[in-house]
Amino acid sequence: MLKTMIPKTIFRANLFRKITTAVGLLVFSSSLTSAQTRLSTHWEELTADDFRSAIQQSQGTCLLPFGILEKHGPHLPLGTDLLDVRYAALHAAEQEYAVVFPEYYFGQIFEARHEPGTVAYSRQLQFQLLQETTDEMARNGCKKVLIVNGHGGNESLLPYFAQSQLEKPHDYVVYILGLVETPAGGPQAKSIGPDWHAGEAETSTMLVAHPELVHQDRAKNESGADLGRQKLPANVYTGIWWYARFPNHYSGDGSLATREFGQFKMNAWIDGIVKATRAVKADQESLKLQNEFFEKATHPLDTRPQ
Ligand SMILES: [Zn+2]
Repeated sequence: MLKTMIPKTIFRANLFRKITTAVGLLVFSSSLTSAQTRLSTHWEELTADDFRSAIQQSQGTCLLPFGILEKHGPHLPLGTDLLDVRYAALHAAEQEYAVVFPEYYFGQIFEARHEPGTVAYSRQLQFQLLQETTDEMARNGCKKVLIVNGHGGNESLLPYFAQSQLEKPHDYVVYILGLVETPAGGPQAKSIGPDWHAGEAETSTMLVAHPELVHQDRAKNESGADLGRQKLPANVYTGIWWYARFPNHYSGDGSLATREFGQFKMNAWIDGIVKATRAVKADQESLKLQNEFFEKATHPLDTRPQ
C-alpha cells in the first residue's frame, strides 16, 4: 500500500510544483515588466542605468527630505521627523515624479542633547555634509535640489545654507521647502496652548505614517506644558529659549491626537511638496540669475544699475 502510494504522491507533488512554478514565473515576469516601465522614486533602489532615465524623467529635480534623530515626548519614536518627512516626500514623488535621496538626518539639534537618543553633529559637519551631499547630487544630474524640511530645528540652518550657495559659483540651484502650514477647513485641533513638538499635530501625522510606532497611552507620562522660564522680549533670541520653555523636549499633548486630523495634515503636506516640485521643475529663472550674478561678482566695479 505504501509502495504504490509513494509514486502517486510524488507525481502529484511534481505536478503541483510545475503549476506553482508556472504561476510564479507569470507573476515574476509581470512584476518584471512593471519594474521596467515604472521607475522607483527611491535613489537607492534604482540601478545605475535606470538612474540615468530617472534623472531624465524628473527633469533633474531631486528631493532631499531632511529629518533628525531626537526625543519626541514620551510616546513617539526618535526618528519621528525623518519618518514623517520621508512618508510625505515619497508620496508626493509618486504624484509628481522626482528622485528622492536616501535617509538624511544630519541637522541642527543641539537643544536636545540632554535627552537619550539624540544625534547632534557639530555645526561644521552639518554644513559640510549638506554641501557635499547637494554637490554630489548635482554632479549626478540633480540640477534642482529641493530640500524638504521635516524638523523645526533646521529652520535657521536651511535658509542660511541656501544663502551661502552664493558664496561661489554652482551649476545647480538649492530650493528649500519649509514646514508646510495646514490649511483651514479640516478637523478642528483640540490643543489650546502651543502644540509644537510631539503634541496633538505631530502625533496625529505619525498615526498616519507609522501608527505601529505610536505609544499614545504613554503621551501623558510627561508634561508638554510651556514653562516660560525666560523673561525676555519676543524679538530677543537665545539658543536656550526652547529648553527654557519645554525642558522635556515635548510641547503639547499627544493624547489629543487622531488619525483623522493626521490624515488632513499629511494630505496638505504631500500637496505642498507636489506643488513645490512642479514649481521647481517649471523654474527657468533661478539658474540663469545665479549665473548672471556669479559672472558680475567677478568684476563688481563694472556693475551698472539695471
Ligand atoms: Zn518632530
